Amino acid sequence: MADISLFDTHCHIDFFQFDEDREAVFGRMRGAGVDRIVAVSVELEQHERLKSLAEGREGVWFSVGIHPNHDSAHEPTVDELCALASHDRCVAIGESGMDFFRHHVEPEMQQARFRTHIRAARELGKPVIVHMRDADEATLRVMAEEGMEACGGIMHCFSSDWNAASRALDMGLSISFSGNVTFRRNDALREVAARVPLEALLVETDAPYLAPVPYRGKRNEPTYVRDVAECIAGVRGMTLAELAGATTANALRRFGIDIQGEH
Ligand SMILES: [Zn+2]
Ligand SMILES: [Zn+2]
Repeated sequence: MADISLFDTHCHIDFFQFDEDREAVFGRMRGAGVDRIVAVSVELEQHERLKSLAEGREGVWFSVGIHPNHDSAHEPTVDELCALASHDRCVAIGESGMDFFRHHVEPEMQQARFRTHIRAARELGKPVIVHMRDADEATLRVMAEEGMEACGGIMHCFSSDWNAASRALDMGLSISFSGNVTFRRNDALREVAARVPLEALLVETDAPYLAPVPYRGKRNEPTYVRDVAECIAGVRGMTLAELAGATTANALRRFGIDIQGEH
């Protein structure tokens, strides 16, 4: 039995990077006290894979959505997203949002896609997992225009400033930090992590990407959410157990997971 219970709110455990040793990754994760994860969608082609990963295991949930910078042969409607997400192990819509770091998908297309995702989330009463990179103004504006307070959501892998964080907090969103909060040069991001109200704070890995220090540059895995949590606990003057307890309770609440029945 591990000493703590953590929830990795965002990882891509179905990706090919885990094909060789996925069961070992699940084993290490549970051994480290990471009991729950959400396996996040970036394209609808993953849907069956994500669904069967979640159906076969305790503590694994999934989302439905298309990443803002992903080329998609088919652009789903609100109804299509709702139909795919109507499953008791599906706890969120996304990841969706806006990403101008690479102009892979045109901004207009990203915006239309993001609006569709928020509308589906509102209809289902599920939160949106928001990916926002180098597009703070555009992302926050769409969120406000689409009335995102109604469904809530998570600013995943948060990497922006306090102004963006507080605007998202005002709309009732949670702020989730990933491995980049541990990087040596990211003092400003650690300050944001110290300032987010405890009840809005979440932790994630975004595995296989963005492994925290001391694994930086290697393949990330849900086990390492412990290192993310340890870093944030440090800057907030909390113990790891306190930080784990609070962020896990926040995640269960945000995803609407009933801890009694655990489904
Ligand atoms: Zn993302
Ligand atoms: Zn992701």
